[in-house]
Amino acid sequence: MKVLVIEDTVTSATVVCNWLTNVGLTAFHASDGESGLEMFKRERPDLVLLDVVMPGMDGFEVARSIRQIEKDDWTPIIFLSARADERDLQRAIESGGDDYLIKPVSEIVLRAKINAMRRMAQMRDSLRKVKRKLEKANRELQRLSALDGLTGIANRRCFDETLLREWRRCSRSSLPLSLLVIDVDLFKQFNDHYGHQMGDECLRNVARILEETTQRPDDMVSRYGGEEFAAILPETGPEGAVAVAEAMRAGVEKSRIDHARSSVAPMVTISIGVAIIVPPHDDEAGIPALIKAADEALYCAKDAGRNQIRAVSTVRGTPDLVVGAFRRVPHSA
Ligand code: GH3
Ligand code: MG
Ligand code: MG
Ligand code: MG
Repeated sequence: MKVLVIEDTVTSATVVCNWLTNVGLTAFHASDGESGLEMFKRERPDLVLLDVVMPGMDGFEVARSIRQIEKDDWTPIIFLSARADERDLQRAIESGGDDYLIKPVSEIVLRAKINAMRRMAQMRDSLRKVKRKLEKANRELQRLSALDGLTGIANRRCFDETLLREWRRCSRSSLPLSLLVIDVDLFKQFNDHYGHQMGDECLRNVARILEETTQRPDDMVSRYGGEEFAAILPETGPEGAVAVAEAMRAGVEKSRIDHARSSVAPMVTISIGVAIIVPPHDDEAGIPALIKAADEALYCAKDAGRNQIRAVSTVRGTPDLVVGAFRRVPHSA
């Protein structure tokens, strides 16, 4: 245990330091407030024994400075003063001290007080440990609360947050934002035929393929709900979005997950609706319209026979913005 003694009177400093050393503690001595603070910063002691009357900074000021330096931390401070006035004691506590002893202090009393402070410091340490554990658990919880339990990819909540963030970012930079809504074709039949567990396994596989297909670090694939997924592609225009969607569609088809009951193909397939927009400035009300547009595009793809993509866009040739209804972009077969 390191004890910092800030005391201008050499004789009493020597007595206290010797006594501390004799009981096995490590003593540091500073003979005025300024050098005491320097030593405090350097040594980070476990306890400070602080004189009140000193030339320059007095003990009260030193205690206040220590509390400022520490912020959320706490090092016990015991004042050792020759002044028996109650108001000095009051000021000492107010300035950040934890106890106030009147000199000459008996060794027994000082030892008992040091032990009491040590006990409190131990409490502080265990609180700190608990706090660190809680913070870690909180971070883990936050990470998990963004993930979908079944597939391990981002969940709906994370999708909502990301879409808002990317909408704002693309709006600031006047760059296009693409949204893909992805739906497994005839998945009810898949479940009916293969059972729910195989269905879950299929969703995990599709999720993995979709994630592997996106290349850029800012692209984000999430499970939107049920057998629907959504991908957010920031800074991506119609050509890029359609290319990614097509790669996803082809990727799922190529992985050849058997689907004996599908009227579309002998394997699991997906349909994708794509909507592209350059988000207007200061208008987050357009977000639901973007989702709706992608949804409608998805239904067009379903209507047209599934296992295909449809895209709508308000972007003609980036960065031109066509204000008004979403315009259909031909499916690049
Ligand atoms: P469509 O091609 O028109 O999309 O047909 P569909 O059968 O895929 O669509 P529908 O909405 O009729 O059925 C979706 C099915 O997805 C019904 C539901 O049982 C299944 N499903 C939704 N979530 C899960 C899940 O977490 N696990 C499993 N195994 N099945 C799910
Ligand atoms: Mg003094
Ligand atoms: Mg479906
Ligand atoms: Mg669906």
